[in-house]
Amino acid sequence: MQFKEVVGHPKIKEQLIYTVEENRISHAQLFLGPEGSGNLALAIAYAQYIACTNKQGNDSCGVCPSCQKFKKLIHPDLHFVFPVNTSKTIKKNPVSDDYITQWRTALIENPYINQDKWYEIIEIENKQGVISKNESYEILRKLNLKTFESEYKFMIIWLPEKMNTYAANKLLKFIEEPPEKTLFFLVSENSEQIIPTILSRTQLIKIPKIDNDSLYSALCDRLGVKPDKALDITHLANGNYFEALNLAHAGDEDYENLERFKSLMRLAYSQKIVEIIDWVDEIARIGREKQKGFLTYSLRLLRENFMLNLKRKEIVYLTQKEYIFSENFSQFIHQGNVRKLYEVFNRAYADIGMNAYNKIVFLDVALKIVKLIRK
Ligand SMILES: [Zn+2]
Repeated sequence: MQFKEVVGHPKIKEQLIYTVEENRISHAQLFLGPEGSGNLALAIAYAQYIACTNKQGNDSCGVCPSCQKFKKLIHPDLHFVFPVNTSKTIKKNPVSDDYITQWRTALIENPYINQDKWYEIIEIENKQGVISKNESYEILRKLNLKTFESEYKFMIIWLPEKMNTYAANKLLKFIEEPPEKTLFFLVSENSEQIIPTILSRTQLIKIPKIDNDSLYSALCDRLGVKPDKALDITHLANGNYFEALNLAHAGDEDYENLERFKSLMRLAYSQKIVEIIDWVDEIARIGREKQKGFLTYSLRLLRENFMLNLKRKEIVYLTQKEYIFSENFSQFIHQGNVRKLYEVFNRAYADIGMNAYNKIVFLDVALKIVKLIRK
């Protein structure tokens, strides 16, 4: 991961490079920033820069043997610690290394990964990830390894707030008496859950959410998102690149879903039964997953319209196109019908999931809306 691959944060990158040029790399640093800010990406890019054998003025070279290994996250002096738990494959005393393959794959695919996504990948089901006592033995073992290729050994700890007390106290000891040439990069989203003694011994690098201009450019330039859609996503993602990526990938279907929702509501309001049946025929053809997608989308739009109706604009999350439609439509979603409308869509979602005959399900949805929307 090179600095140029990290979205935004030019000042922070400069500062980090400066510490290397001035030979003032602090041995324990805390990259503190909200989800999707790129705190983890920055820590990795920083480590890669330090280890690069052919540093450029503002970035690592990306091609030297060290950079090559960093790119695949397999550099022998690069160590990761992250929250884990037991799963179907790892049944006892889980530690980070048990999941290192999934970790590398996940991070190479998306270094803005969030906790939920990570737990989903390692299939720990409904459990929370933790950094346990066993992990601290692993850290100690790794600290005792000699450095293999780089001047420094890097210990990147993702979400130190997930450490249990034992592990946190051990980490404190390691930070207080660090082995030579070892750098600790703690990457946190919530410093309040980290024990104060650790906080006071780390250098804080505060990473704000990504500014809108950088986020917008990244969407257009890197992902090829069209300008008006990139604007919508920038607004919705609110500085979170993980969220922006999700929206960019889900985006096209949302446009279709909005059109479908709009015509359903119009037809229902004007009670055009023949056209409603055409609408049902059409949605019956799009396949179950897309039908479920439409129903989830509709639930979201109902909720947002109800909020708009209540004049709670500050908690309304709509794209520009959705907003234009909802400004007028929201008057039809109110206390008197919102709950029942919700039930209709929820019920349909469950029925589609259980392989009910989809034409009947959607016809039923449409006819119920005819009744509810005019209330
Ligand atoms: Zn290099």
